[in-house]
Amino acid sequence: MESVYDGKSNCSGCAACYEVCPVGAIEMVPDEEGFQYPRIDQDLCVDCRACQEACPVRRPDDFKSAGVPQFYVAKHKSAKVLKVSTSGGAFTALSDVVLGLGGSIYGADFDDELRVVHTRAETPEQRDSMRISKYVQSQLSPIYDLLSADLDSGKAAFFTGTPCQTAAIRSCFQDHPGNDGLYICDLICHSVPSPRVWDDYKKMLAEEAGGRLVKIQFRSKQYAWSRENSNKGLMYLIEGEEDFREDDRYYQLFIQDNVISRPSCYTCKFTDVRRASDITIADYFGIEEFEPKLYDPLGVSLILANTAKGKNLLELSADKLHLEERPGTEALTHQKRLSSPGDEPHSRKEFWADYLKNGLKACFISPGGNS
Ligand SMILES: Cc1cc2nc3c(=O)[nH]c(=O)nc-3n(C[C@H](O)[C@H](O)[C@H](O)COP(=O)(O)OP(=O)(O)OC[C@H]3O[C@@H](n4cnc5c(N)ncnc54)[C@H](O)[C@@H]3O)c2cc1C
Repeated sequence: MESVYDGKSNCSGCAACYEVCPVGAIEMVPDEEGFQYPRIDQDLCVDCRACQEACPVRRPDDFKSAGVPQFYVAKHKSAKVLKVSTSGGAFTALSDVVLGLGGSIYGADFDDELRVVHTRAETPEQRDSMRISKYVQSQLSPIYDLLSADLDSGKAAFFTGTPCQTAAIRSCFQDHPGNDGLYICDLICHSVPSPRVWDDYKKMLAEEAGGRLVKIQFRSKQYAWSRENSNKGLMYLIEGEEDFREDDRYYQLFIQDNVISRPSCYTCKFTDVRRASDITIADYFGIEEFEPKLYDPLGVSLILANTAKGKNLLELSADKLHLEERPGTEALTHQKRLSSPGDEPHSRKEFWADYLKNGLKACFISPGGNS
């Protein structure tokens, strides 16, 4: 077969095709923007079309639940957890239930080079380093075999990722005999930025500081949690220094300019209130408007229970959370990605032409640049 996908806007890079290929003919390869796409080795391909059948973007049923979810506002009862979580600590409460069942947790973490990759955790300590949103597309391919082995051995597993990633997990494991123990959780997702820009950005910060970058955190809670402050507080630590420095130029490209997202994000079919996951977690933006007493500067979560399994998991975590059901209209008003993807700005092409020719630094300082 020539290709799994038909145009870059139809490939989310989820690697489901790579996972299901029975002859190992598919490799995930980054393009010039740093996003991974499947490449088929034509000498190995047996033309079975398993890759196209597994592709969640191609599949007409796309795994979305039939009904509308139940909406909740949630906040972890521990202020300590809230301080180290992006929103209201829903991820910690839900994953604790599965850890308590002896299960494993799958989520996005930084590797030694501060690249974002999906990994597996078996202990609360390993799980803790998955906390905090990392606004870079994570590489999913490393975890498929691990998750498969967990389900083979009858272990419970809790998977968290972007909506396209959770659809891929659904696609690959829905017929697995261990599927009953698999809990699938997605995030409401603005879009996923380029791993190549991320690498260059880290290099630029290190170069400017004259040292090695050892730690990065998005969405620092040194700012009160709110939609406005979600564009602030990218903190980074240089080796040998005690204090974190702050730089928000990356947010400018990601959120305000929206020029570094994956092409498929601008046409994403998972930006829907009907989800492919059991449960969805996000920021409860706007809660201060609807119920001021529920606002907390340390963070508030929005949770959508999409399936009976998701609702059951939420009930099992309820002792860790302040939890209240809310009308869905609130979230739908404040979360654009529950109804449509973000528009691709005209300036995206111009940004990439400038970036590929002159590098990231030039994009920040050039008059035609985006910041
Ligand atoms: C790229 C991206 C875009 C987002 N866009 C929105 C949005 O538009 N609106 C909104 O309300 N919320 C959005 N979120 C989700 C939000 O930022 C929080 O992650 C979510 O509310 C969970 O918070 P928490 O306190 O429960 O979890 P935390 O304890 O902070 O845990 C973070 C969770 O996010 C997962 N994660 C982190 N980085 C990635 C990544 N790169 N890819 C996949 N999974 C990741 C971790 O595995 C973990 O499960 C986005 C997150 C990401 C990563």
